Amino acid sequence: MAQTVNVVVLGAGVSGLTTAYELSKNKQYSITVIAKHMPGDYDIEYASPWAGANYLPVHGKDTEGAQFEKDTWPALERLARHVPGAGVHFQDAVLYNRDKDANSSTGLWFKELLSKNPWYKDVVPNFRTYGSEELPDGVDNAQVFTSVCINTAIYLPWLVSQGLQNGNVYRRGIVHHINDAADLHHSGKKASVVINCTGLGALKLGGVEDTKMYPARGQIVVVRNDPKVMMSISGTDDGGDELVYMMHRAAGGGCVLGGCYQKHNWESQADPNLATRIMKRCVELCPDLTGGKGIEALSVIRHAVGLRPVRDGGIRVAKEKVGDLWVVHNYGHGGGGYQCSYGCTKAAVQLVEEAVQKGASRARL
Ligand code: FAD
Repeated sequence: MAQTVNVVVLGAGVSGLTTAYELSKNKQYSITVIAKHMPGDYDIEYASPWAGANYLPVHGKDTEGAQFEKDTWPALERLARHVPGAGVHFQDAVLYNRDKDANSSTGLWFKELLSKNPWYKDVVPNFRTYGSEELPDGVDNAQVFTSVCINTAIYLPWLVSQGLQNGNVYRRGIVHHINDAADLHHSGKKASVVINCTGLGALKLGGVEDTKMYPARGQIVVVRNDPKVMMSISGTDDGGDELVYMMHRAAGGGCVLGGCYQKHNWESQADPNLATRIMKRCVELCPDLTGGKGIEALSVIRHAVGLRPVRDGGIRVAKEKVGDLWVVHNYGHGGGGYQCSYGCTKAAVQLVEEAVQKGASRARL
């Protein structure tokens, strides 16, 4: 007789949806995804729709985060190569470094990404460092490689539809204590395992209340222009928490111009002055963005703000028992929830299997 394990995934951002999809490939799991926000929503409490999103590894060599990024690349590459319906495409990423940004918050965040000999050079295709004669004025070193850009408006619903095809059930719900999530499985029976993918919500969620969580605010401008390349630089002269980057989303998703990395800033509304600086800096970095015609030639689709769910000490993929309930955590991805998604999911699925072996109950069907 078949046995099944009831699982509730709490959260429907890229972390929850990837975990639910990957777990659903194993037929022993019966999965309900519960979330306050679902794909289609745009809300300051929901980071995933606002992301670019691209693959630019930032974790230091031989760290757990680097392993998550390394384990994610093959999955994203496969989607870009073989699954056009996922809304992921290849794009060359040109990255500039200025030594003077080394100690700014963006310089520190991009330290590995912009180092001259990063670990990921052996993971991504076509990695190449620039010769000194190729460097623009003020740039100390630069590299280019083939990355991907994900159209989140297509990709998040695609993750839901993959899970639906495997029998997952997706429902709205607001949970105040992690233990309460176990009562929301669609079978009406208690779930044996809850996977906590609540992003910044982990700060307030009862039974978790992780005070290491904080936001790093990101403001963007989405435009119709296409620079035909992904580009970024280590910092700006406008402040240590401001950024310059651009990436063009697959399938008509527009070009995302950024940005900033403002720690502990919860402001949900776009700052018009910052928006002007973002557009100006992007056109300066890449005049091809407007064919040499300046920022007036940008065609703006929208201004937007999202909060990266950062965790002091890094991403938390771990299992713990809260009362009688096995909980597997997968949150705190900061600015890298997409580029770590399949690596974190692999680790989380392994922990669910361990929890089941340790006695999380199987219901007889
Ligand atoms: P979220 O997307 O925030 O989802 C959390 C989910 O939990 C939601 O469904 C929410 O409703 C639910 N939830 C929370 N609390 C509760 C509760 N109590 N009850 C019920 N439901 C609850 N990453 C990249 O990899 N590449 C990029 O290029 C990139 N660019 C970015 C640009 C910007 C401007 C921003 C803001 C972020 C960017 N990121 C990027 C980071 C990425 O967006 C995040 O790391 C990722 O979206 C986090 O996903 P998540 O699923 O963990 O959290």
